[in-house]
Amino acid sequence: MKIRLALGAIALTVAGAQATEITPSAKAIKLTQETILIDTHIDVPYRIHAKWADVTKATDDGDFDYPRAVQGGLNAPFMSIYIPAHLEFEGKGKSYQLANQLIDSMEAIAQRAPDKFAIASSTADIKAQFKQGKMSLAMGMENGSPIEGDMKNLQHFFDRGVRYITLAHSQSNHIADSSYDIRRKWKGLSPFGKKLVTEMNNIGMLIDVSHISDDAFYQVIELSKTPVIASHSSLRKYTPGFERNMDDDMLLALKKNGGVIQINFGSSFVTSSSRSWYDQLNNKKDDAKKQGVKLSKDFDAAYRAKNPFPFASLEQVLDHIDHVVELIGIDYVGIGSDYDGVGDSLPIGLKDVSSYPNLVQGLMDRGYSDTDIKKILSGNVLRVWQQAEEYAKKH
Ligand SMILES: [Zn+2]
Repeated sequence: MKIRLALGAIALTVAGAQATEITPSAKAIKLTQETILIDTHIDVPYRIHAKWADVTKATDDGDFDYPRAVQGGLNAPFMSIYIPAHLEFEGKGKSYQLANQLIDSMEAIAQRAPDKFAIASSTADIKAQFKQGKMSLAMGMENGSPIEGDMKNLQHFFDRGVRYITLAHSQSNHIADSSYDIRRKWKGLSPFGKKLVTEMNNIGMLIDVSHISDDAFYQVIELSKTPVIASHSSLRKYTPGFERNMDDDMLLALKKNGGVIQINFGSSFVTSSSRSWYDQLNNKKDDAKKQGVKLSKDFDAAYRAKNPFPFASLEQVLDHIDHVVELIGIDYVGIGSDYDGVGDSLPIGLKDVSSYPNLVQGLMDRGYSDTDIKKILSGNVLRVWQQAEEYAKKH
């Protein structure tokens, strides 16, 4: 989930006008359909919390619904239990409350359509449900604020099926500093955050390093006894100065740790030009606020009409995957699209969950073997998850 991304309907027209036809081959479609496909970051829970929709059927809006996911070969999305980083949530019981409600809403989907969906809380579940032709709903918690400084809550959310925790979101919390937050309260992890990392290892909860500050990242790498994931991060190489993405030194540290980076599709994670577009929009808003001008509801849409949004392309997303592979190898990269979390900023060719065959076609065109592609679609993150499971069994 990215913040400050309320965009108007005009954008769709712009996207349509810019869209180029991408037709995956029968082979790409077959390979996608026959492979376990884990996307580690989809924001359905918060989307339907804000505006309810029955995603077990086709929906008019949003990036995810069951028919489109089936078409795209997506069979194991990690649904993001996303808790906003507002101060009104942190430390007041509200995060815990919201997290439980969002988990309830995922259970409701599975129970409403048990022929289509099942909750997955282990790698064994993912594999078994894939064989049964059911879509697994795995869960990751985006923002550790629902832990509220109490290890009992870590166990509680583990018992409810959450299998990774993004330690912080857009502001520093009681666990870690955020890459978006200029106040570096903890210079990395808090004392509680350090204990939490060890406890997460012990129970088999994956540590997600997306969103946290560089200092927090390196402290996690130092402390964690098991490989970590970056559930939805792209590369700083293509977005210089954007700490939310990972730089080459971090990738090298990730390789040593044995972890995996799951590439975020959002255009502003993929290219600098999309980033600057948002920066300029936000500057305009800040200026207006400073001058005491009240922003109209369609401010973003009007801005967008005048300044067409520079969507990233599928090829540019593939560049991120290529760079990880060139620098640290094929075993450390996967997919964390951020569908339903980045508004209307998705690249041309990757507009929703029906688009994965386009990505697979692109990988094939760049010379990736079937074995390589399977690693990217799920093999790498399954390995990391399994290592966490095995470590927990022994502790
Ligand atoms: Zn996010």
